[in-house]
Amino acid sequence: MSEPVMKYDEAISKFDPVLGLEVHVELGTQTKMFCGCSTEFGAQPNTQVCPVCLGLPGALPALNRIGVESAIRIGLALNCEIAEWCRFARKNYFYPDMPKNFQTSQYDEPIAFEGYLDVDIDTDEGRKTFRVPIERAHMEEDTGKNSHVGGATGRIHGADYSLVDYNRAGIPLIEIVTKPIEGTGKYAPEVARAYVAALRDILRNLGVSDVKMEQGSLRCDVNLSLRATPESELGTRSETKNVNSLRSVERAVRYEVTRHAARLTAGERIIQETRHWHEDTGISTSGRSKEQAEDYRYFPEPDLMPIAPSREWVEELRASLPENPAVRRARLAQAWGISELEMTTVVNAGAVELIETAVAAGVEPAAARKWWTGELSRIANEREVELDSLPVSPADLGRIEELIASGSLNDKLARQVLEGVLAGEGDVDSIVAKRGLGVVTDDGPLLEAIDAALAADPAVAETIKSGKLAAAGSVVGAVMKATRGQADAARVRELLFERLGVSE
Ligand code: ZN
Ligand code: MN
Repeated sequence: MSEPVMKYDEAISKFDPVLGLEVHVELGTQTKMFCGCSTEFGAQPNTQVCPVCLGLPGALPALNRIGVESAIRIGLALNCEIAEWCRFARKNYFYPDMPKNFQTSQYDEPIAFEGYLDVDIDTDEGRKTFRVPIERAHMEEDTGKNSHVGGATGRIHGADYSLVDYNRAGIPLIEIVTKPIEGTGKYAPEVARAYVAALRDILRNLGVSDVKMEQGSLRCDVNLSLRATPESELGTRSETKNVNSLRSVERAVRYEVTRHAARLTAGERIIQETRHWHEDTGISTSGRSKEQAEDYRYFPEPDLMPIAPSREWVEELRASLPENPAVRRARLAQAWGISELEMTTVVNAGAVELIETAVAAGVEPAAARKWWTGELSRIANEREVELDSLPVSPADLGRIEELIASGSLNDKLARQVLEGVLAGEGDVDSIVAKRGLGVVTDDGPLLEAIDAALAADPAVAETIKSGKLAAAGSVVGAVMKATRGQADAARVRELLFERLGVSE
């Protein structure tokens, strides 16, 4: 059921938005956080489990060192302080996908805290940097996965029965929580997206996770509240859960701004609740009320030792961090010959790594950028998927570019070839052959088409001969149409002027 909303511009003229983002990232460790079970994705249900991750009585956890190391590296990359001493805590709640009936998490003693991440966005006044304050990054474990079978929606309501797979239970998670993000004004949706994009880049660059939003290895909860002015107290917030693409992060913020504004203007109050995001309709619906603060009865985990990372270890990890993302962005922008503003577009499109990979595979930087931030971004948007899940390889782009450079393809045909690649029709050359997409290089058919075009519009020849060369456009257009876009426009122009005996 959809709720009333107010136009975004109007909403933003009346209210000041405050954002909060919680990101859960699944670490790419070989084994789980507290046992030796494999974390491999896609195995048969309940084949990667043991007494520890099934929560059987008497089983004792043992901490994954790489899990802790990854948490520290993430904390450092986000400019956080690293705790000298911290503990795990039990977060008690009862849910079938949590076999222990508590989640081993961290509560008042997170391993990393007080950090920030700077993100750039493109504003009316040019490129602008927003500093997103980070409250904490803590370690915890993932739950199992429920499947509700037999209903229309995949949700529990209306299902005939439910299944649970504990393979995911106990996979290490890092939860990264921002402080309230203020001062974004109308750019709140863009800042939210840019933050998640930048965070994803950093995590991928650290090599700690595959950060696939679609497979759930990076999941984002979006908190939003509105207040009358930036000086007012914080309003009541809603929490939109599991927003699983960059595009949806931006849309979910925009939607909540318009929904909150409509309610507040109508004199209604905002209900503190979690909300479900619906990718297909672009709206969220009410989930669980959070009006009554849940009591998780947190207490320190008695089965695990406190963690006291030595300062030497922390400094070692700091020294081995990959290149600072801002430095890296500046270096890549220079290598690719683009401005910082153009780089911002690339970063926020989530295309940095894709372009880097394509360039490493021999594609010209300008071409790689053109494809990934242009045509491919457009297609990803249309299909409502992430850019990096499009089935196109750097080799495909490289081959298309080769064919353009050699004159065998023009831009229009290249887009059709790409369409074929995305539709899984095979490699570039076989698609060109199968779809008959080569540029017509033989002058014979081109001359025939030119003659036909001139015959259809006798006056145009005289116009061109009289020196109005711009009139050639209509002839070239007619030839392109006659050859279904397979002519080389520059060659057609040349032949036309030859035919009419005029020189350019
Ligand atoms: Zn296990
Ligand atoms: Mn959590």
